[in-house]
Amino acid sequence: MVSLADRQGIASLLRRSTDELVAEADGIRRRLHGEGVWIRGLLEFTNRCSCNCLYCGLRRDNGKVVRYSLDEEEILRSVEAAFARGLRTFVLQGGEDADWSTDRLCRLVEAVNVRTSGEAALTLSCGIRSRDDYRRLADSGADRYLLRFETAHGARHARLRDGVSLKRRLQALDDLRETGFEVGSGFMVGLPQETDEDRLDNLCLSVDLELDMVGIGPFIANPDTPLAQEPSGSMEETVRMTAALRILLPRANIPATTAAGSLAEGGREAMLNAGANVLMPNITPLAYREQYLLYPGKDTISQDGIRDLDEIEARLLRLGRRADLGRGDSLAYRRRRDGNESAL
Ligand code: SAH
Ligand code: SF4
Repeated sequence: MVSLADRQGIASLLRRSTDELVAEADGIRRRLHGEGVWIRGLLEFTNRCSCNCLYCGLRRDNGKVVRYSLDEEEILRSVEAAFARGLRTFVLQGGEDADWSTDRLCRLVEAVNVRTSGEAALTLSCGIRSRDDYRRLADSGADRYLLRFETAHGARHARLRDGVSLKRRLQALDDLRETGFEVGSGFMVGLPQETDEDRLDNLCLSVDLELDMVGIGPFIANPDTPLAQEPSGSMEETVRMTAALRILLPRANIPATTAAGSLAEGGREAMLNAGANVLMPNITPLAYREQYLLYPGKDTISQDGIRDLDEIEARLLRLGRRADLGRGDSLAYRRRRDGNESAL
């Protein structure tokens, strides 16, 4: 647990101006990670979900969504095309879909590894499963797992996730860590009723979890959910949280997320300037994109992640950064795995 002194230190960080936070975070990013930005191919392989999270457009009770699930060949074709373009990390994200049993996912993970000659890192992001399931997925060759804790506030977590407790989410994160995955988690910024104390708790929990990757983004109210009338999170607060995370978890990989790009023009660039070092262009076949609406205005619906890579590379150059298509293992993870404190 973060000690009282550390907690006070994090609280004082949050009293600093945004400019000060961003300057320090950007300096740390530059020193430890350089100008490279890791590029991951994001594949939204199923929008079916048995969960009913109040904030999410894919929730079980949202009858407006046309549900889809890609089949193995569609997934492998998308991965192969991106691999041919040079990408070496893929993120398979989806709802909690019973049709994707762990056996089936394991076979897919193995097939991805065969088609990419074992050269690509594979990240899964498909919710809570048992420890044994996680172990089997890791044994099949999956490298990383993303599971945001969403909010560190226990009561609010249970309400927002329609009864699934924070304790259960944290157990899953513990299981993932035990299993040897490179572990990513994070939270939404500006969830309804969020207080300064909540933001502090979110940062403290991220530190406690010693995350290898931290994904955050603004909450964006979705009109087809019970939170339709709530205000969305702000870009300023998202930038502040990004910078604070870079300062607190200097070696973690931090993506500039789609939600930030959807909330505001230049949102992802603002995150990249505040310590972020990862981008995740969408490589889902275009026909399915508009059905994966976690929140409205998602800005990757009409983009072609692979063809847009040229555009991404050009945009990064304008920021003084460089697209890096390699595996991009987290420095935090490498240090933990190698147990070599002085190496990095
Ligand atoms: N089903 C998996 C992965 C898909 S959802 C899971 O829940 O872990 C991926 C992320 O989208 C969630 O972790 C959540 O943080 C984010 N998300 C969902 N609805 C959102 C909204 N309305 N605004 C911003 N982010 C949202
Ligand atoms: Fe399902 Fe994830 Fe959306 Fe929750 S956030 S409803 S688990 S897709």
